[in-house]
Amino acid sequence: MTDDVNDLYQEVILDHSRTPRNFKKLENANHMADGHNPLCGDRVTVFARVENDVIQELSFQGSGCAISKASASIMTASLKGKTLAEVQSLFDQYHVMVTTGTPVDATGGKLIAFAGVHKFPARVKCAILPWHALMSALKKSPTPATTE
Ligand code: ZN
Repeated sequence: MTDDVNDLYQEVILDHSRTPRNFKKLENANHMADGHNPLCGDRVTVFARVENDVIQELSFQGSGCAISKASASIMTASLKGKTLAEVQSLFDQYHVMVTTGTPVDATGGKLIAFAGVHKFPARVKCAILPWHALMSALKKSPTPATTE
């Protein structure tokens, strides 16, 4: 174990991978999408309930490595209450951060825990997977929450 690996597996990442937040199916979601990272075997489904361009609720299900699970958990916890424009901005910043190490701005909260991921190219896809699933979920037309 080196200091670099400690950079990757920060306490907040270990915590969220062991005890993922919002790990459930969102029954009244109006956006959802699946993501798959064949390189690592990570699978994630992201559920969102959006009203008036604001994320009211976010959740996810799936299986994968510690990084993908922690990324989904911290993403769902960090984006609740954000507008779709803020989500797009944080996605852009997060993408830059996990590929170059340039941290997200303060509105991203715990997302900064993933700043060390850029040192591990094989892990970048794990960290970004839940975000790609979320962005693809948000781009789809809303589906009615009821099943009638
Ligand atoms: Zn992975």
